Amino acid sequence: MVRAIVGANWGDEGKGKITDMLGEQSDIIIRFQGGSNAGHTIINEYGKFSLHMLPSGVFYQHTTSIIGNGVALNIPFLQKEIDEIVSKGVPRPHILVSDRAQILMPYHMEFDAYEEERLGGKAFGSTKSGIAPFYSDKYAKIGFQVSELFDDEILKEKVERVAEQKNIILEHMYHKPLINPNALLETLHVYRDIVEPYVCDVAQYLRKAIKEGKNILLEGQLGTLKDPDFGIYPMVTSSSTLAAYGAIGAGLAPYEIDNITCVVKAYSSAVGAGEFVTEILDEEEAEELRKRGGDGGEYGATTGRPRRMGWFDCVASRYGVQMQGATEVVFTVLDVLGYLDEIPVCVGYEIDGEVTKDFPVTAKLKKAKPVYEKLPGWKSDISGITKYEDLPENCRKYIEFVEKELGVPIKMVSNGPGRHEIIVREA
Ligand code: GDP
Repeated sequence: MVRAIVGANWGDEGKGKITDMLGEQSDIIIRFQGGSNAGHTIINEYGKFSLHMLPSGVFYQHTTSIIGNGVALNIPFLQKEIDEIVSKGVPRPHILVSDRAQILMPYHMEFDAYEEERLGGKAFGSTKSGIAPFYSDKYAKIGFQVSELFDDEILKEKVERVAEQKNIILEHMYHKPLINPNALLETLHVYRDIVEPYVCDVAQYLRKAIKEGKNILLEGQLGTLKDPDFGIYPMVTSSSTLAAYGAIGAGLAPYEIDNITCVVKAYSSAVGAGEFVTEILDEEEAEELRKRGGDGGEYGATTGRPRRMGWFDCVASRYGVQMQGATEVVFTVLDVLGYLDEIPVCVGYEIDGEVTKDFPVTAKLKKAKPVYEKLPGWKSDISGITKYEDLPENCRKYIEFVEKELGVPIKMVSNGPGRHEIIVREA
């Protein structure tokens, strides 16, 4: 069985918790896109962890954690995270890294920062993790595959060739220090020694695992609205965030993905710049939700930046689950909304005087104004509740309203950050 866990919105929907939870029944967990630019927060018996590179399965001894070919592999981060979890008492995880994954180079992070600096007020709000320069190089065919670390002659020639090209830009466009090819080659030797024990032909490994009937989880990062094709371009990430890409970024046949679990958050939050129709513009009102949100407030797992807050957006979320091809929804952080008398929910966008329920392209999205419906709040703490029927009536009404709007069954409701704080709805 192959299941993908992906986000419907801007990311931070709580996918880490759901992956960690469903990881219990999985043999293999794979990251298939993105890099260390977003983090998953996981709370379990070992403590609280913020993972950027490692899949969320690393806490179980029975699972194999894989970094797929679609990922931007930051090797120093990989090592740091392995060392950190081991130092906190987690048994050394079984990790595999695709021999076809490409390496996030030190200069990718630098180029990311330089470009944001150059753009000034027009910056993308990048996390400066080097993701856009990394994927640019991958598709410009000047990226470095893990497999290339093991052929020193080819590596040396390529380092010199790429450094020459990068140095022209560094010198003339950014006026920054140049890359020393010898030093870069040495760094890559260090990377090679770190990654060597984990390198694997992942596609072949997965083919065998599928034949053996193993349970496989594909772990997505960010969400539909950050997808470079279907998101709020150009304020998107640089690799596809869609479940469909799970097949490519892991090395599976597309028809092997049986279940697409889409994580949808009970309100909205976003990091970085970009269109956000239901954003709460009153700073006091936004801060009230922000400080109650997630676990310890809505602040970026990678950057610590305060997230932008908004009300639930049916238009964006329905589009989000549709583009993911969701077979089921997990509705998260619902416990956070227990303080509100009334909860605004966006049911349409008004664009040029017309109301639409379809999520538009970015140029139109810029003009969209939210059309709200107000649902009654439940004014109580729902954390600790384990049965759907035990939720307050208005809370169930909120869930069922959203479910109808999404058009996909909400199979689970998450009412707290912990692994077992989940309500499974009976069919
Ligand atoms: P991800 O990138 O999608 O995994 O999202 P994050 O790691 O940013 O998760 C969002 C935050 O919400 C984390 O701090 C989680 O511990 C927390 N969280 C996840 N599910 C719930 C929930 O149902 N209720 C509450 N209160 N917090 C949750």
